[in-house]
Amino acid sequence: MTMNRTTRRQFLQALLAGALLPAAPPSRAALPALAEDDATAKSLGYVAAAARAGTDPVFRKGSSCANCALYQAAQEDGGHAPCAIFPGKAVAKGGWCRAWAPRAA
Ligand code: SF4
Repeated sequence: MTMNRTTRRQFLQALLAGALLPAAPPSRAALPALAEDDATAKSLGYVAAAARAGTDPVFRKGSSCANCALYQAAQEDGGHAPCAIFPGKAVAKGGWCRAWAPRAA
């Protein structure tokens, strides 16, 4: 079986179009929320509500996942988003952990 010229061109165009499409970022919907009792979360003092981190000596008033450099806000869904520290999980926008780093202004 042979492809005529138009069919081959269409096939190559379709192939290139698919190859050049940007890969969709992982959806927050596919990620489970990080549990506070997760071993890594516990080791970093993660809390889903920053207000409960107030007694942690590292906590800085006003800090939360929402203003952390590691919070991937572009993928936020339902108040949660991925965080570079906890791969495969979504952290709460209002959460906090000891790895908090200020987002560049
Ligand atoms: Fe939240 Fe930042 Fe800690 Fe991730 S590293 S859990 S975004 S405070």
